[in-house]
Amino acid sequence: MTPDSILVVEDDVVIGSELRTALGSAGFRVTWVQTGADALEATAADGPDLVLLDLGLPDIDGVLLCREVRAQVPAAVIVVLTARTAEFEVVVALDAGADDYLTKPFRLAELLARLRAHLRRRPSVPESAAAVSAGRVRLNVSARRAYVGGQEVALRPKEFDLLAVLVGAAGTAVSRDRLMAEVWDEHWFGSTKTLDVHVSALRRKLSDRGESDDRITTLRGHGYRYELEG
Ligand code: CA
Repeated sequence: MTPDSILVVEDDVVIGSELRTALGSAGFRVTWVQTGADALEATAADGPDLVLLDLGLPDIDGVLLCREVRAQVPAAVIVVLTARTAEFEVVVALDAGADDYLTKPFRLAELLARLRAHLRRRPSVPESAAAVSAGRVRLNVSARRAYVGGQEVALRPKEFDLLAVLVGAAGTAVSRDRLMAEVWDEHWFGSTKTLDVHVSALRRKLSDRGESDDRITTLRGHGYRYELEG
C-alpha cells in the first residue's frame, strides 16, 4: 500500500522541519513548502491526501489559499494550523474548505492522532451501504459521489459524510453527538460549530442544484433530521 502523502505548508522553519521529520518518521510521504505559491504548485503536481496548512503565510491569505487548495484537490483532507485563537477565523477557514483545525502551539501526538483519524475515515462512511437515497438526493457511497435529481453535486469530504449519515437516517432525528462521532471521529474535541458550518454549506449546495425545499431540519437542542417529504 502506498503511504498517504501529506503536504505541509508552513513558513516557520522550526515548526516546518519538525513536522517534516515527525510525519516522515510516522510513515507518511511528506512534502514541505513555505509559501502559498509553492503550496498551489505542489497540490497541482502531487494531489496530496492531506494538506496541513498554516493560516499565517507571508505571500497569501491563509483562508484564500485554503479555498484554492480545496478547489484543486476536492477529495483531500485539509487541516489548518492557526496561531490566532479567534473563533471567527477558524469558522471562516472551515467554510473555505478546511476539515479540521489545530491551534498553535499543538502537541505532536495530538496532531498525529487527528491526521491519522482523518485519513482512516476518508475512504467510506458509512461502509455498510453502497448507495443511500432520499427524495431527489442519491449518494453513491463507495464512489463518494452525490446527485440531486441526477445532477452531480461537488461535496467536500466532511459534507459528503454528513449528508450520507443524514440521508441514511432520513425521516428520523440524528443527534449532534452522533453526527460529531460518525463524521468527525469520537476523539474530536474542537468546537461543534463546525457541524453547523457544514450543514449550512450543504443546504447551499443542495439548493444550488435545484433542491427547492430545505430538507435538513434543525432540531433545536438535539440535532438534525433529513426530511423524506418536502
Ligand atoms: Ca506562519
